[in-house]
Amino acid sequence: MTLASPEPRAPLPRAAAPLHPWVIAIGGCLLALLAAVLVFPSAPTRFDPLPFLIVTVAFFLTETVSLHVEFRRQTWSWSVSELALTVALVEVGGYWAAAARVVGVGLSLAFQRYPPPKAVFNMAVSVVEVAVAVAVLRVLPFTGLTEPAGWLALLVAVLVADVIGTLLVICAIRLSGGNPNRQLWQELLLPVAVVSPFAVSVAVVAMLLIRVTGWAAVLILPAAVAVTVLFRRFASVARERHTLQKVYEFARRVEELPSDEAGTLHLVDAVRELLNADRVALWLPPYLDEGPRLVVAAEDGRDWYDGPGDPDDLIRRRATDPVNDGPVLVSMSRATEAEAAALRRRGVEDLLAASVATAAGEPGYLEVCDRRSDALSYADGDRSALDSMLTHVNAAIRAQQLLTQIRYDADHDRLTGLPNRQRLAVEIDTLLAADPVGARAGLVLASLDNLTEIVDTLGHAAADELLLVTAGLLREHAPPDALVARMEGEQFAVLLPGLSLDAAERAARRLREATSTRARVAGLDLEVTLTIGVAAAPVHGTDSGMLMQRADVALLAAADGPGVASYHQVLDQQSLRRLQLGTELEQAMADGQISVVFQPIIDARTSDIVSVETLVRWAHPRFGAIPPDDFIHLAEQIGRIGDLTDHVLDLALARCRRWLDQDIALSVAVNLSARCLSEPDLVERVQRALRLHGVPGELLILELTEGSVVDDSVRSSTVLAELHALGLRLSMDDFGTGYSSLSQLRQLPIDEVKIDKSFVLGMSTSQGESFIARSIIELAHNLGLRVVAEGVEDELTRKLLTEMGCDKLQGFLVSRPLPDERLESWLLARTGVRSAAPGAQHRRLFVRA
Ligand code: C2E
Ligand code: CA
Ligand code: CA
Repeated sequence: MTLASPEPRAPLPRAAAPLHPWVIAIGGCLLALLAAVLVFPSAPTRFDPLPFLIVTVAFFLTETVSLHVEFRRQTWSWSVSELALTVALVEVGGYWAAAARVVGVGLSLAFQRYPPPKAVFNMAVSVVEVAVAVAVLRVLPFTGLTEPAGWLALLVAVLVADVIGTLLVICAIRLSGGNPNRQLWQELLLPVAVVSPFAVSVAVVAMLLIRVTGWAAVLILPAAVAVTVLFRRFASVARERHTLQKVYEFARRVEELPSDEAGTLHLVDAVRELLNADRVALWLPPYLDEGPRLVVAAEDGRDWYDGPGDPDDLIRRRATDPVNDGPVLVSMSRATEAEAAALRRRGVEDLLAASVATAAGEPGYLEVCDRRSDALSYADGDRSALDSMLTHVNAAIRAQQLLTQIRYDADHDRLTGLPNRQRLAVEIDTLLAADPVGARAGLVLASLDNLTEIVDTLGHAAADELLLVTAGLLREHAPPDALVARMEGEQFAVLLPGLSLDAAERAARRLREATSTRARVAGLDLEVTLTIGVAAAPVHGTDSGMLMQRADVALLAAADGPGVASYHQVLDQQSLRRLQLGTELEQAMADGQISVVFQPIIDARTSDIVSVETLVRWAHPRFGAIPPDDFIHLAEQIGRIGDLTDHVLDLALARCRRWLDQDIALSVAVNLSARCLSEPDLVERVQRALRLHGVPGELLILELTEGSVVDDSVRSSTVLAELHALGLRLSMDDFGTGYSSLSQLRQLPIDEVKIDKSFVLGMSTSQGESFIARSIIELAHNLGLRVVAEGVEDELTRKLLTEMGCDKLQGFLVSRPLPDERLESWLLARTGVRSAAPGAQHRRLFVRA
């Protein structure tokens, strides 16, 4: 029994602190010395060179031709050295037997390149064993080879020696930190019980034969060779069976592995476990959107080392060379200079390397380094074991790549191979989540113009081709860190990490210029033009959903105009519908879908109807009544507000004209959007409309919003003065909601202010609101302005406002806004007609009490 590798590199749990191998070796030597002193006679028996030489050789041979069995880091060898021991005890006596055994075993272990402390320990154990055998023979006197009693004595002596030797080995394993379990005890002691009797009986037979005739050697030698060969054969069959079983276990283990990254590590670890290796590395080529990977499973826990990841590495190149078949075995002992360099680079002694089949077009690479047991190195048997395992490794890698492919397909566009919308969303969210406060990113949504026409005229194949060309152009011209994605249909997206809105917009313009070319598709020169919408984080949103939607809105806006547009607040949430409405607005005016309603405004004191406010309405054939708040902004945005205003002004003045025709003077108020004031021809248009309908200027009131009036460009222009010069009145709408102060109004040609309904609506319930209304009324009066309160819904409010001196009232209390014909009947029912005031041309209406 020989201990091949008593010291584990990492102590197992529950084990005592491991002793240094040399401490164990020296302990063994002391024990051997003690045994020798106690057992061997002080004067050696006569030295006979020939028998001594023979038994030394026998010790050497039996020790060398041994069967190795590995268990984790431990390796045990069974040899038939008991055979040599039996012969030695009989032929040269205990003293010289011990000497021959030390020499034979020492040489054998040196030949097998055992680490010195282990070799020394084993030599010491062999001396102890001889001493034990001699001691036993002294108790059960050896009566000679001719009697069964003598055989029995020999058998007992060898058996006891073997058991003691085994116990010493177990001791050493424990002392070196190992923790032998029951299975180990069995594995160690069982063969002793089988091998010893067999070896002793063979030895006795041989010696008896030699005693009969020296010629017996001629018989014994071939028999010994045959036994040795059979023994070795048995050993290799056992090993192969063992390997087979391990490969089978490996296959089962691999089948249960998850097909993910952790699965790869487990796979590599399973290879390592099976081949009892120090380290195993698996290099996998880039696949789809995954980069190359190096997965290392190592005894010492490291996850990288130099060599396997290098495509120019000599061993890797050789193993993955397609002409090479099966794994490659490289050992330091038989290495060429270049191979040795490759091994040294990794810091290993021997290595098995193999190519791994992948779906990536390029093979992967697997290498297995150094046996954990240092008594053994890799041999051809291991090569074939690795070869059998490779089938399973390949299958596992393929399964994993299949999963990668499924995942890849799920977030990539099939045609262009670009990431799809889902993937883009994930990328945006990850980018923004990484730095919720500071992260900036531009999102460019690019739509390929005319794709539908190309599908219609040239078919889908041509359209696909054009999409591919566009994808290529975008990828080529997008900044290097940008992510180009394909949305559905004719849309692409480019994510620009780190860019502000302005920078993203500039990038978008460059991209549009760079990509607008002609492409040869289906034998035709087709134009590639992109329409681009831009949104940016964090200004327009901090998640993918919001950004994409807003870029989408910007894209629709871009389609109408310059080809590139950024999202703007005014195009907010419902902008999609709005933009669609935008294109319909013009037609709607022509079709008469856009009409107006009138809301009466009365004199607070006399209840005379002094004017009506014209409010626009859109009766959309599909969406029903669309509130003005929803399309006024839109009309401003798409530059249609002028047309809309003209339309409303026209309807309002037409109404006014009909009253005039009935000899009734009733003013009409028309709302003027802020944009209108900056239209250079506004004054001219208003004048023309008045003239067209023959309405005097004083019957028209223009309601302006506070914001538009305090705007610097308006204040510096003469537009208000010119309007005023037409004789019409200017009213400041929604007063109190802006930032102007009444004193600012002093310099403007304003005639009246309308207290915003938000202050009026709460008056009957809130003291504070009353206070605001009261202040506005007082201050306005001080400036010589008239005051209108809008949003009067109840009698109390009306009473309060009247007491405060408010001049005019408007609100649901008086009337809701009414369409033309209902206004007519309302007027008939509720009003009377006063005769024209002295000097005035027309009659006036009043609300009957
Ligand atoms: P505004 O000029 O402040 O118009 C008054 C709004 O208050 C009208 O809503 C009217 O229906 C509503 N209103 C009147 N009395 C009461 C009341 O007692 N209680 C409540 N809760 N509301 C009352 P509408 O018609 O929906 O108009 C909304 C806004 O749309 C207008 O606010 C105005 O800014 C704009 N708008 C309407 N027509 C035109 C137009 O022809 N041109 C322009 N540029 N803007 C218009
Ligand atoms: Ca108004
Ligand atoms: Ca208002």
